[in-house]
Amino acid sequence: MNITPLIVDIKRDSHEDGPGIRSVVFFKGCPLRCVFCHNPESQETWFEIAFSGKDCTFCGKCAEVCKSEAIDLALKGRIDRDKCLYCGDCIKVCESGALMRIGEGYSAEALTELLLEDEAFYRSSGGGVTFSGGECASYPDYLEGVLKGLKKKDIHIAVETAGYFDYEVFRKKILPYLDLIYYDIKFAEPKQHRKYTGRSNELILANLRQLMSDIDLIGSSARVQVRVPLIPGITTGRENLTGIAGLLKKAGVEEVSLLPYNPLGLEMLTKLGREPSTLPKAFMKPEDEKEVFRLFQDILGETY
Ligand code: SF4
Ligand code: SF4
Repeated sequence: MNITPLIVDIKRDSHEDGPGIRSVVFFKGCPLRCVFCHNPESQETWFEIAFSGKDCTFCGKCAEVCKSEAIDLALKGRIDRDKCLYCGDCIKVCESGALMRIGEGYSAEALTELLLEDEAFYRSSGGGVTFSGGECASYPDYLEGVLKGLKKKDIHIAVETAGYFDYEVFRKKILPYLDLIYYDIKFAEPKQHRKYTGRSNELILANLRQLMSDIDLIGSSARVQVRVPLIPGITTGRENLTGIAGLLKKAGVEEVSLLPYNPLGLEMLTKLGREPSTLPKAFMKPEDEKEVFRLFQDILGETY
């Protein structure tokens, strides 16, 4: 079945998530529920409403148009989400932008066309398009449609994936178009993985092993870079990093990087009316970050 995903955001003129100038497409919907997710607005598949208290002018227009009486200006989060029908009327009248719609629908053709508007920038900078999320690989038919359109123009394509997908479908519909795969590995231990992401990592690791052996086998030119997110006190311990290094060696991974901790998603949890997180609200201190980088470097040296 061809499911059309909602798109959280399309970041144009990005200098991150791959080489050169890129457009980064954030899909909505992810099979994992990482407690440290820095894009929590991309976890659910459906359209959501974010409310930013600091932008609200208390004009009251949202409450006036809400037919289900879900809005109360005295509520800190503004919306009683149990009463909300997600009609979107309040967003349309909120002139200050305090209420925001999260999730827009695009046909595969419309998205491809939009992404190709920046073709000249991709070409002049050695850039391209990166599909991120959420989990873009959860929408193989839709994604294949977009990838085909981009590859016809020989655009460099990267994906960011958590690796929780049906591998055979990924291999057939997505892999043939890829130049770069950012593959997240968070924990070595299945129990730890389940505790912090809601799912075991067995499928993710099996998919990584299969991907590495297939890339050699089919002569794909896709580069695989494993990324390990640094979550202070959760993923940064010696035991976890040693376990990950061992798994990567076994899978034949040659490129790995550490992703510095990003607490920016924590604020979004409140905007979405979800439970606030207990994770640190600040970025890691540079010296702490350096220490973990050094530790991982040593572990890789001992493992490889
Ligand atoms: S989306 Fe509709 S039902 Fe929900 S708070 Fe806004 S106006 Fe009310
Ligand atoms: S319409 Fe927007 S600015 Fe006005 S009260 Fe509602 S949330 Fe605040």
